[in-house]
Amino acid sequence: MDQTGVSTETPKSPWGSVAPAAPSCSLADVMSEQLARQLDEENNAFPTLTDPGADLLLSGEDPDTTSDLMLAQMLQMQYDREFDTQLRLEERKFNGDSKVSISFENYRMVHPYEDSDSSEDEVDWQDTRDDPYRAEKPQTTPRKGFTGKGKNITTKHDEVMCGRKNTARMDNFAPEVHVGDGLGMDLKLSNQVFNSLKRHCQSEQRRSARLHDKKEHSTAEQAVDPRTRLLMYKMVNAGVLDNINGCISTGKESVVFHADGGSLEEQPVPDEVVLKVFKTTLNEFKNRDRYIKDDYRFKERFSKLNPRKVIRLWAEKEMHNLSRMKKAEIPCPDVVLLKKHILVMSFIGTDHVPAPKLKDAMLGSDDMRSAYCQVLHMMQQLYQQCNLVHADLSEYNMLWHDSKVWLIDVSQSVEPTHPHGLEFLFRDCRNVSTFFQKRGVSEAMNVYDLFNAVTGLNITVCEEDEAAFIAQIVALEKRNEDHVQRRGKKTFPVATDDGGPPLKPDADD
Ligand code: ADP
Ligand code: MG
Repeated sequence: MDQTGVSTETPKSPWGSVAPAAPSCSLADVMSEQLARQLDEENNAFPTLTDPGADLLLSGEDPDTTSDLMLAQMLQMQYDREFDTQLRLEERKFNGDSKVSISFENYRMVHPYEDSDSSEDEVDWQDTRDDPYRAEKPQTTPRKGFTGKGKNITTKHDEVMCGRKNTARMDNFAPEVHVGDGLGMDLKLSNQVFNSLKRHCQSEQRRSARLHDKKEHSTAEQAVDPRTRLLMYKMVNAGVLDNINGCISTGKESVVFHADGGSLEEQPVPDEVVLKVFKTTLNEFKNRDRYIKDDYRFKERFSKLNPRKVIRLWAEKEMHNLSRMKKAEIPCPDVVLLKKHILVMSFIGTDHVPAPKLKDAMLGSDDMRSAYCQVLHMMQQLYQQCNLVHADLSEYNMLWHDSKVWLIDVSQSVEPTHPHGLEFLFRDCRNVSTFFQKRGVSEAMNVYDLFNAVTGLNITVCEEDEAAFIAQIVALEKRNEDHVQRRGKKTFPVATDDGGPPLKPDADD
């Protein structure tokens, strides 16, 4: 204890209180029940569209029949399907044996892709192998090099034959190359014309592949790939949202949209909401996994999931963290619902204009001082009441609205007992301290005092030696890790009365 210089005199500090004596039954079991209950409570606090009752329209599972809206939608769906069956019969009757058939597809009530929500790998329904419009193969010259007899011999060099063959070969050009109605005429293309056409087509094909590649990339980057669009469309279709208006921000890890709220299971949704779409591109998730794979709350599940599902976990994590913050009455968005990797929450701002980030807000000195006090208080509440460290706290993730600071972007927040939790907190403190000092708030503490004020610890180093300070933080983290390891395989913290982590030495220390 002396080594770390941690004071035990601050009763408020979760790090400073004495761990209770070990109970006689297995601690791991007790904690796991608590954990289950706690996560369950947090989960029940929000309607998520992942449960069958709330799922939108087309899940095909046993639906909840208690909601009138859901019943109406189910009946409508039943009716639509019957209508489509009838339409198919009429289409068949209309076309009969005719070689040219007319499709009634556009009149269907249920669009083909609506049926395929849950399938992870959608079938490309346009994949038709037999093309009835394919031109006949060009006539080939037999091996002997000529056809016909006597005067009527034609060789493979015959100009007319070659020209016709070249015309027919245009059919092998890429489908996006329009060859007009040349194929249907008796058009003779010289070798020279054919070759230059072919070269042009090949270079066009390469160019369009490059463009296409870019387009695919950018849609993926904006996280509105077709699957995400479908989810968003379904939210509008089910009336949860009235309208999706546009994009507020595209960040490294998420895209945020503004939307008009509708209603969810007869509960009103806020008039203005945001949709935070977590990006499904996998490279970003790799950078972030240290926040989640060591978070004991998600550890078990993390190891079993595929990357797409891990991204859903981010959205879920943000939802749980926001709920803890709400309980502690920290100003933050209200969660409306969670659907896969899309989190819908209340909009901080007015009339489609999002509240400015603290970095951009033009605050007078009084407001700036008030903002500082609020942030300090919030950091303490977050740590002591919510048992959380923001882990990405800066002027970019705090909004100024109604003379209050609002905390956002908590998907990466972790508990203080996370193996790097205190280091993350130190980084947060540095951002906050630097920002307010630069903005001329004389009360703004330096990073070390702020860290101690938030945690209730009393880490002291001479002459503001950052390396020594961090070394003490790391030693605390290490001590906590060792403690957890000894206590059992499951790495959740041994909560003290105030929910803090077990940093006091045990009897067996
Ligand atoms: P990222 O992980 O991409 O930084 P954030 O949660 O920080 O995601 O959101 C990005 C931006 O979107 C924020 O800086 C803010 O301007 C805006 N934003 C996010 N949530 C809200 C909200 N609830 N209300 C208003 N604006 C929001
Ligand atoms: Mg952010």
